[in-house]
Amino acid sequence: MLSLLAMKIGILGFQGAVVEHQQHIEKIGEEAVVVRYPGQLDDLDGIILPGGESTTMGKLLNRTGMMEPLKEKILQGLPVWGTCAGMILLAKNLVNDSVRHLAVMDIEVKRNAYGTQIDSFDMEVSLPEISPKPEPLVFIRAPYIIRAGEGVRVLCRVDGHIVAARQGHMFATSFHPELTDSLAFHRYFAEICREDREG
Ligand code: GLN
Repeated sequence: MLSLLAMKIGILGFQGAVVEHQQHIEKIGEEAVVVRYPGQLDDLDGIILPGGESTTMGKLLNRTGMMEPLKEKILQGLPVWGTCAGMILLAKNLVNDSVRHLAVMDIEVKRNAYGTQIDSFDMEVSLPEISPKPEPLVFIRAPYIIRAGEGVRVLCRVDGHIVAARQGHMFATSFHPELTDSLAFHRYFAEICREDREG
């Protein structure tokens, strides 16, 4: 019975690809809520931290008083998916930035890792855990993971670099599935939320 209920999935709504995530969540039949205030964190089944600019999003998380409550919720088990800048917000360590943001996921991340020459590109990659067919991946000034801790499962590598990983209820991708027609990643995240809610 419970599985018939839509998951209520928040999207951190300060900047970046918010509307695109919202549309993908609605297309798979789940409920999307744009989150800008700490009080909105209370009844979510999961939250997406979109791409954008991690430095700006970090500042806004602090300014709105959301940094600590969001961190607390994630540490208590709220499912979270960080795409691109969102991955940077989740990382416990950044190799080329002195700032740490939520610092909840045991990954070490390099910002703008592909340099300026190839700062945006796309490709098709096979990710058996997420989709039975090759998926389009779009990278925009993307970070990648240079070290994943013991509890972190690597889901995808491109040219030897980790670009998708999962640590229990925390999921991070260097790329932007919300900018493609694929719904596979949003379905995968909704499943993490559903498993969590239904135990
Ligand atoms: N380069 C951005 C940052 O460091 C991330 C880019 C993105 O989210 N598309 O925050």
